[in-house]
Amino acid sequence: MSSSIVLKTSNLTKHYGKIKAVTDMNLSIPEGSVFGILGPNGSGKSTTLGMALGVTTPTSGDFSWFGGEANHQVRKQIGAILERPIFYPAFTAAQNLRITAQIKEVSYDRIEEVLSLVGLNARKDSKFKTYSLGMKQRLAIGAAMIADPKVLILDEPTNGLDPQGIAEIRGIILDIAKSGKTIVLASHLLDEVQKVCNEFCVLRNGRLIHQGPVSETGNTAQAEIEFGAANGKAIELAKELDFVEVLEEQYNGIIRAHLSEGFSAEKLNEIAHSKGLVLDHLVTRRQTLEEKFLEILKNDDSLSK
Ligand code: ATP
Repeated sequence: MSSSIVLKTSNLTKHYGKIKAVTDMNLSIPEGSVFGILGPNGSGKSTTLGMALGVTTPTSGDFSWFGGEANHQVRKQIGAILERPIFYPAFTAAQNLRITAQIKEVSYDRIEEVLSLVGLNARKDSKFKTYSLGMKQRLAIGAAMIADPKVLILDEPTNGLDPQGIAEIRGIILDIAKSGKTIVLASHLLDEVQKVCNEFCVLRNGRLIHQGPVSETGNTAQAEIEFGAANGKAIELAKELDFVEVLEEQYNGIIRAHLSEGFSAEKLNEIAHSKGLVLDHLVTRRQTLEEKFLEILKNDDSLSK
């Protein structure tokens, strides 16, 4: 059962009158993945998650959790933060989690465990209202994890956080993923998806336009390289070699280029060396998720013409 599907949606659709929030969504989220749902504001991420979590009624279509219907037992396996959760401001973190534990019918022993998971043990007796935004968000993740669910769903988990807060949340997500949980993360931030997810999909105007592994974006077939040598010799070398297609000659004498298929940075280095030329800069740039994303959008445009 190495590749079971945790959540599968079949033509899942939600229209609000004329507003087509989600149309014919066919998603498959593999067990153990950190799955990014990437799309701009209004593309249907929250609506899709809302339907899957039973908060929003679909107009049509279907979905299944762990291959079956989402009954009470199944829902217990899903921890989710859809919007900023409500905690009691005058209660401490530990007191708030006691309430969550009661609602979820789990032992209070879990409170200490989730507090350490989200790094809030030292501040567990501080009132919620004294927490920073990052701490509030970490507490929300802790609350979602209290019943030790198999799946954690996060909608824009780093919204409004500073870089340190973002890094902390990222660390927690990666820790949770390491423990074998499936994580579904909706985000409009490419960087966030690239840094934590191993699988992703792209939504646009309520439709799914791409799903695949994040690692594919490291494809080197169209790899770009950068190289340089003292005294501007890199451009001379590039002109001599017909497998090097110069894309840009940078101000510092560094060349950005595509290599023909079958040629690598090592080959270039070897040839330079055989000509007595020492490269003082040589970098292979893989395609970033941003470039992949733009390519996906471009291809989608051409399909709709
Ligand atoms: P965001 O990150 O801004 O929340 P999103 O990708 O999560 O964006 P949704 O919130 O799912 O997108 O919204 C998709 C579309 O559905 C938007 O056009 C939104 O205005 C519309 N929509 C969502 N909820 C409702 C509602 N209750 N009534 C009417 N339209 C709605």
